[in-house]
Amino acid sequence: MPNKNGHRDEIPSAIVVGGGPAGLTAAIALSQGGIATVLVGKRPVRADNRTTALLGGSVTALSTLGVWELCAAQAAPLKTMRIVDDTRRLWHAPEVKFEAHEIDLDAFGYNIENLHLVAALEQHARTLGSLRMIEDEVLRIEPGADAVAVTLKSGESLRAPLTIAADGRRSMGRDAAGIALDERDYKQAALTLCLKHSRPHRDTSTEFHTPSGPFTLVPLPGLRSSLVWVLDPIQADEIGALDDAELSAEIERASHSILGKIEVESGRGLFPLGVATARRFADKRIALVGEAAHVIPPIGAQGLNLGLRDAATIGELAIAAHREGGDIGAQDVLNAYDKMRRADVGSRTLAIDLLNRTLLTDFLPVQGMRGLGLYLLDRIGPLRRAAMREGVAPATAQPRLMRGEAL
Ligand SMILES: Cc1cc2nc3c(=O)[nH]c(=O)nc-3n(C[C@H](O)[C@H](O)[C@H](O)COP(=O)(O)OP(=O)(O)OC[C@H]3O[C@@H](n4cnc5c(N)ncnc54)[C@H](O)[C@@H]3O)c2cc1C
Repeated sequence: MPNKNGHRDEIPSAIVVGGGPAGLTAAIALSQGGIATVLVGKRPVRADNRTTALLGGSVTALSTLGVWELCAAQAAPLKTMRIVDDTRRLWHAPEVKFEAHEIDLDAFGYNIENLHLVAALEQHARTLGSLRMIEDEVLRIEPGADAVAVTLKSGESLRAPLTIAADGRRSMGRDAAGIALDERDYKQAALTLCLKHSRPHRDTSTEFHTPSGPFTLVPLPGLRSSLVWVLDPIQADEIGALDDAELSAEIERASHSILGKIEVESGRGLFPLGVATARRFADKRIALVGEAAHVIPPIGAQGLNLGLRDAATIGELAIAAHREGGDIGAQDVLNAYDKMRRADVGSRTLAIDLLNRTLLTDFLPVQGMRGLGLYLLDRIGPLRRAAMREGVAPATAQPRLMRGEAL
C-alpha cells in the first residue's frame, strides 16, 4: 500500500546503503546469490579522481561477478613494484624490487581509475533483476528486532532483515548499530591526481619513501600513471595549490625524472589521512562494509581490497543463510562476519600503521629497523616471496568469490 508520500513500502531481503565500490560489490553479490536487494546511494559531493590497485583476489572476484570484463580495458597490469628509500637519512634502506613472476603471477594486480570501476559496477548492477538501485540519500536507519527500517530523503521507507552499511568513513549505519570507532588522525594528507609522462612505466609502480610519507606512482594504460603523494598537511595545501606547470615540474623533481616529462591532468584530490577501525563489524542486523568498517592510509594499496573482501564475505554468509531458509540478518550470521573479517583487517592495519610510523620517525634505531627489514626483503628470496604472496592476498580470509567460486 502507498505510504503518505505516495511511495510503496517495500520489503526487500537486504538493503545496501552507499553506492561506492564496496556497496555496489556487496549489492551485486547478494542479488546474484538470489537475495532481493535494494541499493540506496547518493552521488558523492566531489568526483573521485583516485585509482585503485586491485590486487589478486579482487580481480578474480570482479571477474566471477561479471564486472571485470566491463572495465579490464581501462586497467593497467602491475608487474613490478619498487620501493625506493628517498628519506636521505643516515640509515638508508636498499631499493627493493618485487616481480610478479617470482611468485608465478603475470601481474600482482591491476590499477584502474575509480570512476571506471564504479561505472562498470553500476552498469552490471543495472542488469540484475533482483537488484533495485535508488539514487537518494538515506536520512535515518533504525534497527529493530526483526528488521532494519531505512528512511530516504524522498520519503520512501524500506525495511529488511539485513542492512549493509557501505556509507563510507562517516557511516550513519555504524552509528545506528551503536558501534564505536577507534580512530587516530595522522598529521598527513594525500594529494592524488593522474598524469601523463614521456617515458614508459613498464608496468612498474614505484613507491618513494620520503620523510613526509610515500610518493607513489602507479601505472595506468599507455603513457599515464596515477600519483598518491603523502605530505604534511600544510605542504599538501601548498603543493596542491600550484598551477599545472609548476606542479608538473615539482612531481618530475620528486620522482627523479624516472618517467621523464610530467604533465598533470585536471582533477586533484586531497585526503586527510588516518586510521580507523570499528570495534565490531556488525551488530543489530547491520553489517559494515568498506570504509564504514575500516580506514587505512594509502600505503601498499590495501584499503578497497579489504572492502571488496568484506563485501564478498557478507555476501557468502547471507546467501548461505538464505539458501538454508534462515534469517540472513540473524546475530549468528553477523558474529561469523565479524570473526571472519577481524584478523585480515587487524593485521593489515597494524602492518601499514607500523610502516608509516617508521617512515615518519626521527628515532635512529627505528629507522635502522626499517632499513634492515627492507634489506632482508631484498636479500632473502623466500622471505620476499612470502611477503609478496601475503601482500597480494592473505593466506587466510579468502572468501569464495576471491577464489573464483560463484556464490
Ligand atoms: C589517496 C587514497 C588512495 C587509495 N588507493 C587505494 C588503492 O590503490 N587500492 C585500494 O585497495 N584502496 C585504496 N584506497 C582506499 C579506497 O579508496 C577506499 O577503501 C574506497 O574508496 C572505499 O570505498 P567505499 O565504497 O567503502 O566508500 P566510499 O567510496 O566512500 O563510498 C561511500 C558511498 O556512500 C555514499 N553515502 C554516504 N552516506 C550516504 C547516505 N546517508 N545515503 C546514501 N548514500 C550515502 C557516498 O555518497 C558514497 O558514494 C585509497 C584511499 C585513498 C585516500
